[in-house]
Amino acid sequence: MALMPVAEALARVLADTAPLGTEDVALGDAAGRVLAVDLTALRTQPPADVSAMDGYAVRADDIAGAPATLTVIGEVAAGHPFAGRVEQGQAARIFTGGVLPDGADTVVIQELTRRDGDKVTVEKSAVKGRNVRYGGIDFKQGEVLLAKGRALTDRDLMLAAAMNHPRLRVHRRPVVAVLGTGDELIMPGGEPGPGQIVYSNGFALTALARAAGAEVIDLGVARDTLDDIGARIRKAREAKVDVLLTSGGASVGDHDLVQKALKAEGLDLSFWRVALRPGRPMMHGRLTRDGLGADGLGADGLGADGLGAMHALGVPGNPVSSYVCAFLFLLPLLRKLSGRSDIEPQPEPAILGRDLPENDERADYLRATLDLGPDGFIATPVENQDSSLMAPLAQAGCLLIREPHAPAARAGSRCRILKFGF
Ligand code: AMP
Ligand code: MG
Repeated sequence: MALMPVAEALARVLADTAPLGTEDVALGDAAGRVLAVDLTALRTQPPADVSAMDGYAVRADDIAGAPATLTVIGEVAAGHPFAGRVEQGQAARIFTGGVLPDGADTVVIQELTRRDGDKVTVEKSAVKGRNVRYGGIDFKQGEVLLAKGRALTDRDLMLAAAMNHPRLRVHRRPVVAVLGTGDELIMPGGEPGPGQIVYSNGFALTALARAAGAEVIDLGVARDTLDDIGARIRKAREAKVDVLLTSGGASVGDHDLVQKALKAEGLDLSFWRVALRPGRPMMHGRLTRDGLGADGLGADGLGADGLGAMHALGVPGNPVSSYVCAFLFLLPLLRKLSGRSDIEPQPEPAILGRDLPENDERADYLRATLDLGPDGFIATPVENQDSSLMAPLAQAGCLLIREPHAPAARAGSRCRILKFGF
């Protein structure tokens, strides 16, 4: 089988994948969740013309020839509007957020006034409207301010609250089951026996999935046997996860049993082996859920339980490969399942930090450090790009993209990067 180009592999991962269903959550729990509807302002903000400062509400015409002495007829604080009207020669004491009384059109800051009993002398003239925040200057009732498909930021929650929404309709979080494989793996903190190493990549994959808004079920580490891998695949299916993410056992060795085990469970393979470095033995397919037909889908594209067929993403065991593959394929898949409108990471321009040779037929995602130079980010690929090296991966700030057959490139030329934490 020829190696599949990265873009086509990603298109296959994302094909026939609809956003998950929706649920209502309290505003305070909605950070990071993805809006399932366009959010409309239920009120206008500010609801009336209000003062931006502590001072006096006046008529600009009255203070045109400042200094001018006016009669103070009342007081307006935030939440306590003043019923009267400011007539010619009059002023009202006003505080930040106070509603501008009828008749007044300008606020003079306290520092430019002198108060004496019920008189106030304004020292300087002001243009009409100074220090007034007009009603609706922020937003107006009926405006759509947050669009469907947006992952809600902390600032969005502030805005949604001001729009008067106590709860928000968001997409359900994707559930990802993370499964490691390998007889050689022990847990961190354990005593490695001869030839054993510490299970590491699952910790990055779990954190990556969680940062993308997913819930993670830890399926532990399977021995390199069909039985053990199969039993854990069935656990993922029973838990009705949206994505099963396996690492290791993906290649052609005698102990690489993941694809075999998945096929025994009814995997519909969409591809195996991508024109990618690191991560060539990466695979993807769909797994039927319990009691469903071959594609796991009914006429509505969903299974009997309202869920589509489960995704199975098999990434290689080498830690760097597992991370790069999850970054390139799992993240967009989770974004699509989450209902996000921005699904694929967007490469950004940077300046190449060192010379690079011509590339071969595989797309290369080089681990590179990032430094801010005078003309933008400088991305310098780490010296040793071996896919087992975790220390340089942790040092790296991005993946530097080398297209298949890219010509040799000089330090200082433009390059394209994918920043981690996109
Ligand atoms: P595999 O894809 O199973 O052939 O694994 C490739 C390499 O990655 C081997 O050296 C494994 O020991 C290592 N490896 C596999 N899984 C993990 C893991 N979860 N954490 C760290 N290293 C792993
Ligand atoms: Mg293995």
